[in-house]
Order: sequence, then C-alpha cells, then structure tokens
Amino acid sequence: MNSASLVELFSSIQGEGPHVGRRQAFLRFHGCNLQCAYCDTVEPASPPHCRVEEEPGSGIFRELPNPLPLGAVMEILRRWRDSYPGLHHSLSLTGGEPLLHGDTLIRWLPELRTIFPLYLETNGTLPETLAEVVDHLDFISMDIKLPSASGSPPLWDRHRRFLEVALQRNLFVKLIVAPDTPSEEITVACLLVSGVEPSIPLILQPVTRNGRSAVPGELLLRFQEQAARFLADVRVIPQTHVFLNLL
Ligand code: SF4
Repeated sequence: MNSASLVELFSSIQGEGPHVGRRQAFLRFHGCNLQCAYCDTVEPASPPHCRVEEEPGSGIFRELPNPLPLGAVMEILRRWRDSYPGLHHSLSLTGGEPLLHGDTLIRWLPELRTIFPLYLETNGTLPETLAEVVDHLDFISMDIKLPSASGSPPLWDRHRRFLEVALQRNLFVKLIVAPDTPSEEITVACLLVSGVEPSIPLILQPVTRNGRSAVPGELLLRFQEQAARFLADVRVIPQTHVFLNLL
C-alpha cells in the first residue's frame, strides 16, 4: 500500500490531552468505524483530494489528488523538519480512525518515524490492527467511548483489549463527557482502565459546543472526584485549539 486516501496534512498545536500546546504535524486519514453524536469531523465519503498546507501554520493549502503516495508525504514532512528545525514535537496520525488503514500503516509507519516521532489519535476500538503497528508508535491518545455520549453500543471489551496492547507505549486515555453523562458510565470506564493499569493518565474532556465547554465546571469537578477514586492521574482538559481558532 504505497498510496492512501488522505483528508489533509497540516501543522498546528495539539489541542487535547496532556500534550496540549505542543506543535505537531497532523496527517488526517479518511473514514471512521463509529458515528459519535458529537463528531466534529465532517468529510466526503471518499475525498477526491488531500489538502496540504504549503508552509507549517500558514493556513494556505493546495490540493493533491488522492490516493497520495507515501513518497509525496515523506517529501513534505522532510522539508518541514529541515526548514523548521525543532518546531514539531511529533506527527499526529488522526482521522476519522487511522487504524482503519492498517495495511497502509504497516508500510508507512517505519518510514514516517524516521522523520518525526509518531502520535496516534484513535477511538480505541481496533485492538487487532493496533497490535500489528504498535511497535512503530511513540504516543497513543486513546478514546474510551461512553455509550451515552457516542451513540454507540457499549464497546467495553474492545477498549479493554486495546488498552492491553497500547500499554506498552506512552499512553493516555480520553473520556469525552457531556452534561448528561451518567456517572455509572464514568465508573465503568475507570474500572476498566484501572483493571489494566491504574497509573494510565485519564483526561476528562468536555464536549465543545459553540466554541466553549458544554459541561458546567462544577459537574466536571464532580466527575474528576469520581474518577480519582480509581485512577492516580485524572485531569480535566477542554479542546484548547477551539478557543484559539486553530485547526
Ligand atoms: S471516533 Fe472520532 S472520528 Fe469517529 S465518529 Fe467518533 S468522534 Fe468522529
């Protein structure tokens, strides 16, 4: 798989989780296996073009026809690394769900990792594919999808198996919480994570609506108190790139 259907390649700050504020290159893959109610990723069924930022952070894009060959992606990333030394902390593999592109990742990740450390953003539901590529990853940002917020049926078993594989890398877990998130679901998710490893950092990320957190601050504090009964490192971090009007 030397070519892949991609949505975009750009440079911005990481707006979520414990690496918030770090500059990253973002490679967005097409498609997802879930349909979360709060999803902010809108894309055509099969994007005819991949938009690529001309210079990191310029906001000026050109369109390249899909599927895009690995060589073209490598050339752009090499230029960014060499022309902007030290700027990018890592390359974020994002989506959609990047692990849907398992065959491509197996081929691409060893090459991409020669340029930047690799940071996977995933919905944490494809443990078999993760097992095939995990050796090439440096950071894993794993979502646990609460049934009430995602609109999906419970995915607990998939998440547990995913955690067991992801544990061997630099891993943290994100829970997207909404004003109506049942506290029982937070307990189930925390027991799941602590059953694998209680030191895994857990990020409570409130749903964003109209550019701000949709969850009252007092409720977030209560959710944090509840999660801290099970896990050693529980943080509340909203989507900061939204506040900064960044991608
Ligand atoms: S897993 Fe992520 S990309 Fe997929 S539907 Fe849910 S929020 Fe959207």
